[in-house]
Amino acid sequence: MTHAAVGAKTTPVLRFAPSPNGFLHLGHAYSALLNAALARRLGGRLLLRIEDIDPTRCRPEFEQAIYEDLAWLGLAWEEPVRRQSDHMDDYGAALAKLREMGLVYPCFASRQEIRTAIAERERTEGRPWPRDPDGAPLYPGLARRLQAGEVARRLAAGEPHALRLDMAGALGRLAASGRDLTFVAFDPDGGERVVSADPARWGDVVLARKEVPTSYHLSVVVDDALQGVTHVVRGRDLEAATDVHRLLQALLGLPAPRYHHHDLVVDEAGLKLAKSRGSPALRDLRAAGVGADEIRQRLGFPL
Ligand code: GLU
Repeated sequence: MTHAAVGAKTTPVLRFAPSPNGFLHLGHAYSALLNAALARRLGGRLLLRIEDIDPTRCRPEFEQAIYEDLAWLGLAWEEPVRRQSDHMDDYGAALAKLREMGLVYPCFASRQEIRTAIAERERTEGRPWPRDPDGAPLYPGLARRLQAGEVARRLAAGEPHALRLDMAGALGRLAASGRDLTFVAFDPDGGERVVSADPARWGDVVLARKEVPTSYHLSVVVDDALQGVTHVVRGRDLEAATDVHRLLQALLGLPAPRYHHHDLVVDEAGLKLAKSRGSPALRDLRAAGVGADEIRQRLGFPL
């Protein structure tokens, strides 16, 4: 897999990709403004993508608010905006490709069953169960122990299941092709470095959920490729996810964008902003009389 060449002929393409599951706060504003500033500096295009695959958390009023809040900040983006929920077929096609490679398997376990199995393993093995970079326990491989006949019977019975990536199989395939998994991390002020990706630390990630026929990782990778994104600019909280994204890109034969993972805007306690911690939404600040100019200044993006 070669990294996408950003030569003289390629127009850089950047994207801001919020999920409409709440109102945007200063952290989102920073990410959007940084994307816009870099698109301008690189002479590139700026896309807005609505990552709304989760129907239980995403709401039309949040999507509407994203358009209003970004316009209020003075941002402009290309139309039409890609909404992930309109493109399930694209994610299905990528999933089918991975299935054909034999790298996907069904997992029928409930969250509770997974928790119970992990607790059991911790007890018998006398050590804490390993966790992924987000702090979630790694999947303990329950479905791997199912016999093929049982899998076929449960699938035929229409039992709800997630689809997981066979991480060991995927890495084996990659190793067989002699390719190293890396990505180019770029610095907005110039400079690049090649970073090794270590997707194994995520275990058998979910590619399609029981209720949603795709996942964050799969949709992001498919969309970045379909939209020709050359520079992914997003928060540090997603840096480790890049390892999975690079693996999926390599397996699916998709180009690799360059990546910049920016620092997160934090509150007075030094914590990442979140609605659950009462961080004010941009619209709350606006209602309180704070101007868009003031916000841009505060975040380091004067006009
Ligand atoms: N939709 C993700 C979020 O809101 C961002 C995805 C990305 O930038 O890759 O956190």
